[in-house]
Amino acid sequence: MSSIFARIVSGEIPALKVFEDHETLAFMDISPASRGHTLVICKHEYPDIFSIPPTTLSAVSHTTQQVALALRDVLAPDGINIIQNNGAAAGQTVFHYHVHVIPRWDGDAAVRLWQPQSADQAALRALADQLSAAIQQP
Ligand code: 5GP
Repeated sequence: MSSIFARIVSGEIPALKVFEDHETLAFMDISPASRGHTLVICKHEYPDIFSIPPTTLSAVSHTTQQVALALRDVLAPDGINIIQNNGAAAGQTVFHYHVHVIPRWDGDAAVRLWQPQSADQAALRALADQLSAAIQQP
């Protein structure tokens, strides 16, 4: 079955669209974390960061920047969070790649995603080396 966002792309479900090009679509989140919370999606249904092709990812990033610039112009927030969830454990509820663009204001009610922890430096270096070796060069 198509994702709810694929049904927005097809026009089956309405959305408050703010931008559209041949690969991407931006629209207002139906349950916003803050005033201006906007979603940027790829029109083709890729579930997550693992499956989206790099060129489509670039297109989504470009649209995300355009939306962030527009939000800065229109709402003048103190900051903007760019958030992208992958997997239920990470908070993903719609399994169609999307980026949250969330304006923030000093002292607002939206929470920070994590609490900073201290890390063992040797373990951190070992993990960095492991990740570096695992990254596939183009
Ligand atoms: P996720 O938790 O998957 O990262 O984010 C999904 C987002 O989609 C949520 O912020 C939720 O409010 C939004 N959302 C879910 N269904 C709809 C819908 O039908 N229309 C719009 N505009 N947003 C939706």
